[in-house]
Amino acid sequence: MNNPPKKSEAYLMPKPKFVNKIKFQQEPGTSETVMPSDDMLMYFEKHIIAPAEEECGYGIYSKALEIPIFFVSEKTINQKGLAIDCGVSDDLRKLHDIVDEDRFWKLETALVDRADPIGLYLPKGEFQDQGPEIWVSYEKIRNQHQKWQDSKYTTALTLVHELGHAIMDAPTSGLYCLKTWVEEPLANMIALYYLDSVGPSTTNGFDRMEYVTDFVKTQPEKYALGLNLFRSSRKFDWEAWKNAKWLLCFKIDALLDWVEYIKGNLGNVDDLRLEALFREIVRQPIEFNQTLLQQAEKLYEK
Ligand SMILES: [Zn+2]
Repeated sequence: MNNPPKKSEAYLMPKPKFVNKIKFQQEPGTSETVMPSDDMLMYFEKHIIAPAEEECGYGIYSKALEIPIFFVSEKTINQKGLAIDCGVSDDLRKLHDIVDEDRFWKLETALVDRADPIGLYLPKGEFQDQGPEIWVSYEKIRNQHQKWQDSKYTTALTLVHELGHAIMDAPTSGLYCLKTWVEEPLANMIALYYLDSVGPSTTNGFDRMEYVTDFVKTQPEKYALGLNLFRSSRKFDWEAWKNAKWLLCFKIDALLDWVEYIKGNLGNVDDLRLEALFREIVRQPIEFNQTLLQQAEKLYEK
């Protein structure tokens, strides 16, 4: 019996489009910013993003080809992080106007932590006029890892995480800080689904999923929760979240319940309880009343 001819890899894989659109932004006045190699970017496209898209089909690959992606210096990504911290301070001023003192302090304690980003998704009109854009600092990732292989997997996870924000992009109630405790774990969940769907990596006998799951565990709580969502027997529907974002200023109690539960139980999360809290956040429709509408009007005022 004749075996069918083997398809060559060149036939199976589309021509790389991703690597050609990446923008490398050197730190002004220098040419020393550490950048990922073309080979690494080709690996992300051919062995992770494109084949994972076949499996998961969330639209990550088309976003990767559509949205400008900048690789920047550690200094630049840190400056962007500071800009986000300022945005969060503005959010808190707005929140102070719409919630009572007790809930305000609870929110402040629950929601505010300083951004120390290795990657960022910047939607149009949030923190800047242009967009959307993705910024990743391979230099910062490289500075945090001794092994090149660890940097490679962290960069792959970061890139897909930022693209996860891109597929969940939707108008919000104008408060960035309310969004992060749901959005960040979901973006990590999506990234873990994508990286997992392409099967084990055999490069140097090093297990890609083992590395990235260990990495996610070391991240701040709201990111680490992504691993719980990824491993959960329950479904955390990122599209339901996307559709619910504009209602967030009406969901402050549900958000606080979610954050407080995670903070108290991260090592011991009950899937059913977590799913119930998530559903409360994404639940639609809600009852509108005059007070809520007045609060919303205040938020949209510039
Ligand atoms: Zn993120």
